Amino acid sequence: MKTFYAEEQKRHNPKGFLSSGAPQPNPEKPERIERLLAGARAAGSSIHHPKNYGLGPIAAVHTPEYLEFLQNIHRRWQLIPGASEEVVPNIHPINRTGSYPASAVGQAGYHMADTACPISAETWESACWSAWSAVEAAECVMSGEPAVYALCRPPGHHAFADVAGGFCFINNSAVAAQRLRANAARVAILDVDLHHGNGTQGIFYARPDVLTVSIHADPVRFYPFFWGYADERGEGAGLGYNYNLPLSRKSGDAVFLEALAAAMERIEVFAPQALVVALGLDAFEGDPFGGLSVSTPGFARIAEAIAKLRLPAVIVQEGGYLCDELGDNLTSFLTGFGATI
Ligand SMILES: [Zn+2]
Repeated sequence: MKTFYAEEQKRHNPKGFLSSGAPQPNPEKPERIERLLAGARAAGSSIHHPKNYGLGPIAAVHTPEYLEFLQNIHRRWQLIPGASEEVVPNIHPINRTGSYPASAVGQAGYHMADTACPISAETWESACWSAWSAVEAAECVMSGEPAVYALCRPPGHHAFADVAGGFCFINNSAVAAQRLRANAARVAILDVDLHHGNGTQGIFYARPDVLTVSIHADPVRFYPFFWGYADERGEGAGLGYNYNLPLSRKSGDAVFLEALAAAMERIEVFAPQALVVALGLDAFEGDPFGGLSVSTPGFARIAEAIAKLRLPAVIVQEGGYLCDELGDNLTSFLTGFGATI
């Protein structure tokens, strides 16, 4: 299985975020890439640099206003006397019915959901290359590869059409799915990250052509708190095309695989022509977020179950944080997937 990844993705190096109000080092570190690359290589994957696809495939799922913000906000922020080095919001609209502000501080609050996605001088470039890794993986799948892995970092599934959040800026899984739509009338996105894929859900919430399915820790006491409940089923033409499977904290392989079987059933009746797997490895029992308890061999079993769909698949990296087994968990998933297709 091929891997797509660009060195430029490493430049984004966020310094901090607030966890329960306390300043902490940001866990979405460039070092994750080294562990994941080692994991992909151990699964026999060859590493390829994607092409620069420009803004077209990114603008297919994000608003022009938001992309202009992401591209320019760091430079604008530096013009504010006494501003922080990284762009971090300090005020948010309580809803989106107010006016769009002209100021950098106002726009940061408008376009950033939380403090977990600080923007530095390098963020825009890294986020674009991360998205282009997903685009080229989708191109390969459309050219006949059965499955391709996109080592996307920074990750994407918490990014809405015009909001960054939870370490995410550009929604790489959504970009891949939209790209696949060029050849496929129906595309399914299956998100197995520990956290609910709220941005992905938001982007496709009113659409029946992209089914969004997410298995994750119950948000009642877990990020992203405001989304990820079972009663969020889509709206308008998209009603019935969003399927959330929240799990109790610390659920292990058996519970996860049971939810996965229900997800598979829904995807099979949707009958998509292509699949995006939003692959978070933070459901691991040893992940620093500690939300679920999937084992290293459990990731192979999850992969085998998904691969049985026999759909052309783009596997997009989402979360999964520094722990000794991060690379092994990716190896387990990619090996299980490759052995089944
Ligand atoms: Zn996550």
